[in-house]
Amino acid sequence: MIDRPVAIVTGGSRGIGRAICLELGRLGWAVVINYATRPEAAEEVATLLGQVGGVATALQADVGRADDRQRLVDKTLEQFGRIDLLVNNAGITSVGRRDILEATEESWEQVFATNLKGPFFLTQRVAREMIRLIRAGQMAGGKIVNISSISAYTVSTNRADYCMTKAAMSMMTKLFAVRLAEEKIQVFEICPGVIATDMTAPVKEKYDRLIAEGLWPIRRWGQPEDVAKAVAAIVQDAFPFSTGIRIDVDGGFHIRVL
Ligand code: NAP
Repeated sequence: MIDRPVAIVTGGSRGIGRAICLELGRLGWAVVINYATRPEAAEEVATLLGQVGGVATALQADVGRADDRQRLVDKTLEQFGRIDLLVNNAGITSVGRRDILEATEESWEQVFATNLKGPFFLTQRVAREMIRLIRAGQMAGGKIVNISSISAYTVSTNRADYCMTKAAMSMMTKLFAVRLAEEKIQVFEICPGVIATDMTAPVKEKYDRLIAEGLWPIRRWGQPEDVAKAVAAIVQDAFPFSTGIRIDVDGGFHIRVL
């Protein structure tokens, strides 16, 4: 078994996941950089981590597929022997961003598989492995971090499926938090606001305008590193007596203003 803590970061090859992988690497963690379709992006993150003395491996798996999730966990255990942290970060937006009256079942199925079913069953499997390792005295505890969104409580009528998966992820955080507390596993939800990544690139002009108009108090784009810093705080045990909490990384977007 490797002598440093091990993290699986789903969707670790680009955007927010990439920043989380790099931050964990800096903190001395071994990182499994999961990706779905673009090996070159994941390999680049692995190379960057290798250059600073990190331990990292890129692993393809579609989190929406049961056999892929199984392989992701099996390979991680085969290579490192432990899983101290799971970051459920992989996610996709609504396909075609169609109005709710035109929304399709194809988008629903893809978005729910990636954003909700995948994280739920991956958490279930990883939690079982963590419990086994903790009970055997091989790990002191475990942590699970779910990357949700302000869309968990904010309506976008052209992204109904996306919003619903993120709302469900908030409940999923609380469900696992309660079940896993006695097993020494903490569960957190990080709720990012608008973050500059490939996902938001197609709507950049809209958000540039909304930011200039002051839609949230801190008038700038969120950066992937803003989210990574919240993960860093969690893994450095900044919240030893917390579980099931939502950490807002949103420039203050969640505050209602009159
Ligand atoms: P992104 O730049 O589009 O990157 C998505 C990542 O997820 C990529 O690494 C991608 O891998 C991977 N991925 C997609 N589908 C996957 C699947 N089925 N299985 C495994 N990996 C998969 O996205 P992002 O903006 O960083 O978003 C990351 C998370 O933050 C998402 O859950 C998103 O909902 C959430 N979020 C984002 C924002 C924002 O403003 N950007 C705000 C709030 C919440 P490949 O490249 O290989 O496909």
